Amino acid sequence: MASDLAVPDTTIDNQQQLLKNLARPATRSLGAYNAGLSAEAVQQKYGAARIAKLASNENPLGASPQVVAALEADARFSAIYSDASSAALCDALALDSGVAASNIIIGNGSEDILHMLALAFLSPGDRVVTLIPSFGLHEIFPRMMGADVTMVGVNAYQQFDTQAWEAALSTPAKMVIFSNPSNPVGCMLNREGFARIIEAAPQDCVLVIDEAYFEYCETDADYPDSLRVLAEQSRPWIVLRTFSKAYGLAGLRVGYGLACHAELVSLLDRVRTPFNINRSAQVAAVAALQDKQHVRDSIAQVTSEREKVRAELSALGFHVAPSYANFLFFDCGQPASGLAEQLLTYGVIIKPWREPGYEQWIRVSIGNEQDNRQFIDSLKRILAEDAA
Ligand SMILES: *Cc1c(COP(=O)(O)O)cnc(C)c1O
Repeated sequence: MASDLAVPDTTIDNQQQLLKNLARPATRSLGAYNAGLSAEAVQQKYGAARIAKLASNENPLGASPQVVAALEADARFSAIYSDASSAALCDALALDSGVAASNIIIGNGSEDILHMLALAFLSPGDRVVTLIPSFGLHEIFPRMMGADVTMVGVNAYQQFDTQAWEAALSTPAKMVIFSNPSNPVGCMLNREGFARIIEAAPQDCVLVIDEAYFEYCETDADYPDSLRVLAEQSRPWIVLRTFSKAYGLAGLRVGYGLACHAELVSLLDRVRTPFNINRSAQVAAVAALQDKQHVRDSIAQVTSEREKVRAELSALGFHVAPSYANFLFFDCGQPASGLAEQLLTYGVIIKPWREPGYEQWIRVSIGNEQDNRQFIDSLKRILAEDAA
């Protein structure tokens, strides 16, 4: 009977206090990652007929049919441990990127590699420079290690503020992390800005360039060829990419890092869990690399839908940041959390931003045509209700 398990409140209070005391100081003061709601949770709570999940920048086309076939074929080997070195995937990525397989690290999502980088390099008091508004883990993982995080803002046009970066990098730092295109803003650091920021970085720091949205702008003439630029300088660096966005494998969790040197991979290998990439993820990623047409189709559809949604939001009077990725970031002119809650009642899940100064901003992923329609129509209805 459950009542037999009842523990006096004083014991629970005591345990809670004890746990807080036992935790590392950096853990105690850590903020939680804002992972958002699942479609199932929203369906249950709000009972909407259709859910438009536009909060995690997933690919509305899903995975390539070739990936699905590869997963089905591998399912019967589920009892066998995955390859701890992800060798087949490293080889495929070496062919794809031109980076030697020995310089490639695979992660259980690229967030896993951000975690490894923090574990391998950061000690209490080390300084990390990153962007605000920011992908939460660029700040949370360094803080987990007790590092001091300097956050460089975007300028008034929601673009990278190269001068502010140069100023922030004029004092010592252990690690520099930013995403390009940036999440959540969507802005792109161009070739010139990229070269300037790299040049400004201290010689003895690790440069972490998170290119989670690389595929959405790799053909843009202004997008820096980071691998080429980085190869020409002496600071240690790693470029992170992922199968979660343009490849449509977010649920399988697989990302990768292209590093300057095999020594960096070896350091990260020491802090990761040995079988961090499950076999489905490895098999799927290899298959996904063989269907580039699916990636091109996804990007063509998403970028054309993005410009439609941008036009709708602008017509409603919202200020929308420039975007080179599969989402839009806009100032909704009121506390974003309230508007997000109203949108949930229409089955629309978006991401209200929570960082200081951005509480009126929303990041909305670009879904398929129906999802985007549902988002815009619901938004219009809410604005009309509020005006009435
Ligand atoms: C989505 C995203 C990631 C995480 O990708 P996973 O590979 O799914 O862990 C990393 N960085 C940025 C900037 C992202 O937007």
